[in-house]
Amino acid sequence: MIVADKKPMEEIIAEIKEYENILVLGCNECVTVCEAGGKKEAGILVSALHMYFLKQGRDVRIDEITLERQCDPEYLEEIHDRIDQYDAVVSLACGVGVQFMAERYHDKPIYPGVNTCFMGATEARGLWTERCQGCGQCILARTGGICPIARCAKRILNGPCGGSTAGKCEINKEIACAWQLIIDRLKALGRFDEYEEIAPIKDWSTDRAGGPRKVIREDVQQ
Ligand code: SF4
Ligand code: SF4
Repeated sequence: MIVADKKPMEEIIAEIKEYENILVLGCNECVTVCEAGGKKEAGILVSALHMYFLKQGRDVRIDEITLERQCDPEYLEEIHDRIDQYDAVVSLACGVGVQFMAERYHDKPIYPGVNTCFMGATEARGLWTERCQGCGQCILARTGGICPIARCAKRILNGPCGGSTAGKCEINKEIACAWQLIIDRLKALGRFDEYEEIAPIKDWSTDRAGGPRKVIREDVQQ
């Protein structure tokens, strides 16, 4: 899932403090799971904003709606009849949802209410860790299911680097060296001989850092 973190209140207030009618728009998918932008968080933000404006002596209308998904045009249509009631929207979706809203409602200011962080997994309540960077050409088959692109600080494809110490990354001693994890995993799988194979140069043109990309699936379109 996409993992996001709440933006500081001061940052949100700085963006919207001049408006009189504000919609806080939650999203029922990833940001709900990571407790940054779902219905619960939207309600908390609305309460906090009410408090702020009351202290300012201002009567600002702040409504809350949570859509099933903000990255899906079908659900964005649900607010079509109401959107003109608002001067601005604070979207608690990931950056994809914020942009989709801005494209659909072109003349409406849309402000992000969360910081989108990464694609990751829930390790424990309140703990999410990165697992994938969307490189577009998955190499997990040869790394024992552990991603050196997302989990090695240097994105090394033939690791570890010389800084790996006692299984920890030289960049942060709290974090496991991804390549140590890969080695341990390949050993556990009885495939350690594959570690000796030098990885070919990766085609980075498919990576998400290479610019906007599209995935077109004709089997789905039919
Ligand atoms: S190899 Fe690429 S697609 Fe596979 S998990 Fe890593 S970043 Fe994601
Ligand atoms: S110590 Fe391991 S995870 Fe850290 S940069 Fe080096 S190879 Fe990558």
